[in-house]
Amino acid sequence: MELYKENQLKIYNSLSKTKEAFKPVHDGHIGMYVCGPTVYSNAHLGNVRTFMFFDVAFRYFLHLGYKVRYVRNITDAGHLENDADEGEDRIAKRARLEEIEPMEVVQRYTVDFHDVLKKYNFLPPSIEPTATGHIVEQIEMIKEIIDKGLGYEINGSVYFDVVAYNKNNHYGILSGRKIEDAIHNTRTLDGQSDKKNPQDFALWKKAGEQHIMRWPSPWSDGFPGWHLECSVMSSKYLGSQFDIHGGGMDLKFPHHECEIAQSRTCSGHDPVNYWMHTNMLLLNGQKMAKSTGNFILPDEILTGDNKVLSKAFSASVVRFFNMQANYRSILDFSSDALEASEKGYLKLMDALSSLANLSTQNSSSINISEWKQKCYAAMNDDFNTPVLISHLFEGVKFINQIKEDKASITAEDLVIFATTMNAFVFDVLGLLNDVKEQSSDKIDGVVALLIKLRKEARENKEWELSDQIRDELLAIGIQLKDGREGTTYSMS
Ligand code: AMP
Ligand code: ZN
Repeated sequence: MELYKENQLKIYNSLSKTKEAFKPVHDGHIGMYVCGPTVYSNAHLGNVRTFMFFDVAFRYFLHLGYKVRYVRNITDAGHLENDADEGEDRIAKRARLEEIEPMEVVQRYTVDFHDVLKKYNFLPPSIEPTATGHIVEQIEMIKEIIDKGLGYEINGSVYFDVVAYNKNNHYGILSGRKIEDAIHNTRTLDGQSDKKNPQDFALWKKAGEQHIMRWPSPWSDGFPGWHLECSVMSSKYLGSQFDIHGGGMDLKFPHHECEIAQSRTCSGHDPVNYWMHTNMLLLNGQKMAKSTGNFILPDEILTGDNKVLSKAFSASVVRFFNMQANYRSILDFSSDALEASEKGYLKLMDALSSLANLSTQNSSSINISEWKQKCYAAMNDDFNTPVLISHLFEGVKFINQIKEDKASITAEDLVIFATTMNAFVFDVLGLLNDVKEQSSDKIDGVVALLIKLRKEARENKEWELSDQIRDELLAIGIQLKDGREGTTYSMS
């Protein structure tokens, strides 16, 4: 039986602001859309946090046996510098500054994004559509919005009439913003824009003479507004009403609010059943963001090449660090915090390396099925990874107790125990055992030789020599452990 049938997931829905029992539109299937990166610069570690959380959610759905269609787009046109539809296209600006083609910018940073995802052990989404690959569909949606009376054209640009929409719908339903406040907040922009109301947003922008990212449309040669692509691509690949839509909290307004308005206008109903938003990764107490220069790159973590870092860290340590926090809480990045996570991660890997070789008994003194249930319950409770990790460490305690003969486990329970530990650590959290890769075969061979020599020394009662081998190995971070199955070692 598929695991999802016996695991009732609860998901915090940003729309209702409560944890709700998860019920997919189609039994056994999940449609999930996550707003992808705007590829005008390298993804920073804050972006990685958001995408990593959804990677873990995706992994958990797969683990539970759901058939998942996971769509994560690439924004390669239409995202302007500020949210009030003013300023330059981010990609076009970068191209101008670097004197290259906009599509060269797109290519460079898409490749970089994929490179980061690979290094950080992400599963690829099912579909990764681009905004520029869906211009035709975007033009069609604009026509539909105009036909419904909620889009208007001025000077070759088309805007969504938020005030008219709000008469029969609730603009602000997701973000909690009041439409009057939006007017107040954007009044300073009056005169700079040709919109009817300052809170209206662009569906299509007429391109200026210099703008190379342009496509023909019934209104002008131009380009689509940023919010449109996600409404178009989510409905194209997942249907007009699908299960989950995710992104960082900073996308709630205006991006997701505008998506709801566009989609509701066309379909007459809410497009998304569960809205999920991740909280921000902070650096120096501020949101990690490219625009302010307050960021660290995923590659810098791996090389240690950033002054905020005391040393290099592996991708799995960063994953572990991210998963130690709840996705809905802010998370402060620091080198010290990464060092603490590294200790925990190494402890977990060390315990896992001896899991398969634990000796078994006729009875278990540990309640493995209760422990397993607790692991699932943590993830079923809105993907509570920090609680899951606390249960995994309870598992580490069991392993050590069994090794020290302070607890016993049957062969049957050991299979359940090892399968569950490995499933959550490697399949669901997506950690890799970097430790094994670091300790090369050569080191294995040398330590095995020293273990053999020490054993011979002990058999000959040469205690001084055997202690010397043990202590000097320990001094360089290699700890020998004597157990029933012989001597093993771990590296710190
Ligand atoms: P962007 O490329 O700017 O559209 O961002 C891609 C994703 O990263 C979006 O879901 C953002 O909400 C998210 N994001 C941006 N900054 C941070 C941050 N500091 N912490 C967590 N997520 C972030
Ligand atoms: Zn989006």
